[in-house]
Amino acid sequence: MNLFTESNLSPDLLKAIGELGYETPTEIQKQTIPFILSDTRDLIALAATGTGKTAAFSLPILDMIDDTSRKIQLLVLCPTRELCLQITKDIKNYTKYLPHLKTTAVYGGSSITEQIRSLREKPQIIVGTPGRVIDLIGRKALDFSEIHWLVLDEADEMLSMGFKDDLETILSETPSEKQTLLFSATMSKEVERISKNYLSNPHRISVGSINAVKKNITHEYYVVGYRQKKEALKRLLDANPNQYSIIFCRTRMETQEVADFLMQNAYAADALHGDLSQAQRDTVMKKFRLKNIDILVATDVAARGLDVDSLTHVIHYSLPDDPEVFVHRSGRTGRAGKDGISMSLIKPEESRKLKQIKISTKIEIVEKKIPTGEEIIKAQVEGVFEKLFTEHEDLFTFDDSLIPDLSAFSKEELVHQLLQLQLRDLALFYKDKKDLADQKFSNDRDDRGSRRDRDRDRGRDRDRRSDRDGGRERGGKPKRRNENMTRFFFNLGKRDQLKKMDMLEIINKATAKSKKRADIGDIEILEKFSFFEVEKSFKDEVLKGISAQKFKGKEMRAEVAN
Ligand code: AMP
Repeated sequence: MNLFTESNLSPDLLKAIGELGYETPTEIQKQTIPFILSDTRDLIALAATGTGKTAAFSLPILDMIDDTSRKIQLLVLCPTRELCLQITKDIKNYTKYLPHLKTTAVYGGSSITEQIRSLREKPQIIVGTPGRVIDLIGRKALDFSEIHWLVLDEADEMLSMGFKDDLETILSETPSEKQTLLFSATMSKEVERISKNYLSNPHRISVGSINAVKKNITHEYYVVGYRQKKEALKRLLDANPNQYSIIFCRTRMETQEVADFLMQNAYAADALHGDLSQAQRDTVMKKFRLKNIDILVATDVAARGLDVDSLTHVIHYSLPDDPEVFVHRSGRTGRAGKDGISMSLIKPEESRKLKQIKISTKIEIVEKKIPTGEEIIKAQVEGVFEKLFTEHEDLFTFDDSLIPDLSAFSKEELVHQLLQLQLRDLALFYKDKKDLADQKFSNDRDDRGSRRDRDRDRGRDRDRRSDRDGGRERGGKPKRRNENMTRFFFNLGKRDQLKKMDMLEIINKATAKSKKRADIGDIEILEKFSFFEVEKSFKDEVLKGISAQKFKGKEMRAEVAN
């Protein structure tokens, strides 16, 4: 089957996928569609997100499902709400010309009564997350006693998220006469075990060539000591302007730390991890999809379900333990026929781990040096020209009469001067900075460094931001700092519902004991933290007075910003 038109799928399905632009089936689709259409055996398919597996399992089932019956015939279980919504959306697109087929998504973090209401429409297809499905079975709102197909999507992820017992409970609610289709990016021990217990004589399909599909990704690695990691990351970002990328971290804490560092350094970045509420995660993903931010710092789990096709880079801020996770992460870029770059930051002691990844994935990963200041400026200049030729913007108009007589400049001089203005801050930042490429690395025994080191790093990061800003506000407006004021960093921001009025009140409270009223300068409330200025002589009172208070139950902390 080289084209969808050569498959036995019904004309209604072919018409719908044709409108979505699907012409040639992906590797996994080539293998699963004919199998599911013709065989009733269970299936284990090894395939990662982005390989087209949703269409791979749903198209043949949609072809066979009985749309005259109002019984649930297909249950798809998946690990996250995002993936659940994505699969539902895909299936609804595929069934555009099958009006009698109904699909309902059931997932946690959303009103259960509303979901119960939509189940009254008698959908034949349910896509759900395990926890919510169990709740609904308990409330007798779902009955799977007559399903024909059960799909376990991202089975490895569901098991590593602790859904094992839930899966077993749900499986026990389904008839033995059904076809179970298990999809997983990796074949972990748990996946093997659950397959053994719940699948009978399964046919196995492996899209062994996940890498082959991704030949268009260049893999690079950079050796850097723990303490230089953030600075190295900053250099990689600066040396790759116009990027749209995901930075993968290992833990939630690391994710937040890296995102905070980038935001403090005025990058359009944000964090995505499991410590955020569902609403916060939705907002971050929306901002990233709309490209309001162009850098997303994420954990592996949180990034699943995020469907973006045009990533230019994937950065492994920390290497994963599992080589397949490395492949999976990297495969986020280089989608939809575009080229992609995967960059890994490797601590010196991780060279064995890297070697293991290289051997088991057969990916060629090439060592590169952290770019120097000079190389960064060069890349930025190229970036400006790339934008000039690819993005013509007409954000505002102005009269040509505003353009002064420029005949004193040659064309080249004019471009040079405009670039100097545009890249001034960055050039100042890197002017006297030592290069990272040839530095000796400190081999910290504690992976994350001591708390004192980290605090010092944090202070330095903030200083860097003010260095880089060169006294400019985010909007680029020149801002003169008042000599009599001290600028403070404050650990709460908009997402803690902090408003300017609250900040004023907090400062006033902190300095209330003094006979004189403290002069308060600029207050800048950012997403996750804030900055404010108070008269210099009140420095100690502010520091002490603020840590003694709480805001909506949260600890408060102020530090001198520069
Ligand atoms: P999935 O692995 O199911 O998350 O799919 C990844 C992306 O590829 C989705 O945006 C699908 O809409 C798209 N896709 C799936 N199959 C095809 C195909 N045969 N041709 C073009 N795009 C596809």
